[in-house]
Amino acid sequence: MGQNRAVWRSNSGRLHETELMVPIADGADAPPGGRLAALAGELGRSDREWAILAEGNCSLLTESGDVHVKASGAEMGTATSADFVELPLSELLSLIDDDVAGDDDVRRVFDAVAERSVGRRPSVESLLHAVCLEQPGVTVVGHTHPVPVNAILCSSQPTLLTDGALFPDQIVVLGTSPLLVPYVDPGLRLAQEVRRMLRERTDGVPRVIYLQNHGMFALGSSETEVLQITQMAVKVASVLIGAASVGTPVFLDPAEAARIHTRPDELLRRDALANRPNASDVRATPENTL
Ligand SMILES: [Zn+2]
Repeated sequence: MGQNRAVWRSNSGRLHETELMVPIADGADAPPGGRLAALAGELGRSDREWAILAEGNCSLLTESGDVHVKASGAEMGTATSADFVELPLSELLSLIDDDVAGDDDVRRVFDAVAERSVGRRPSVESLLHAVCLEQPGVTVVGHTHPVPVNAILCSSQPTLLTDGALFPDQIVVLGTSPLLVPYVDPGLRLAQEVRRMLRERTDGVPRVIYLQNHGMFALGSSETEVLQITQMAVKVASVLIGAASVGTPVFLDPAEAARIHTRPDELLRRDALANRPNASDVRATPENTL
């Protein structure tokens, strides 16, 4: 984990130095708390402004069906493995399934977690993490409030983030069908609404979920993928803001976007980005298949 620097020469012959993000050590073998602390450290890096103070959270799903998620109040940038709590995915999903459940029921479940986790309670957004971790192929989730993304989500034109694709790499990393969710009070109702919207979708699992007037969720199969999705969403938002300042953003033709989304060389590039050994490991969800 951490930063590295690359030296490169531009067309003018000048040498430049660029900060690179080194992929953090993904690995199901490592303890979940350590994996999440490393991811939180990247998502909460102060120079990025993706999540400040106690904003944001991240989670992962173990093979045994347990969710590890950031405890309420912990700061992403300085989180340690002690800042994450564990509870069964099924427990969170049964709360979401219960149409008559309310804040008291959530409190009861979270109090029980606090009792066995030296007083640490799951973040209120744990319920939405559960909805994301329930999706096929999703095992790591990162939630942030990046400044450029929120600038658009808090504007009169939040659909700019989901109306189309601006450039090929956006499609490689974010896919072609991100989900935009209207503002709902964070907690049980928001989790239920996102779950309903995901069930109604016909175009597979989104890699990114944008929450109006709130922030974004990156859905990945590794910590590296969650970081890359967040990085790319931030770049897309910054480019949109730039494009809107000089004119009107122009999206790629949908047929061109679809072609990039399914081109074998782009699938291989996506695979290489995610550090996977070969293309056959690409998630078998409609969003990722040819
Ligand atoms: Zn949030």
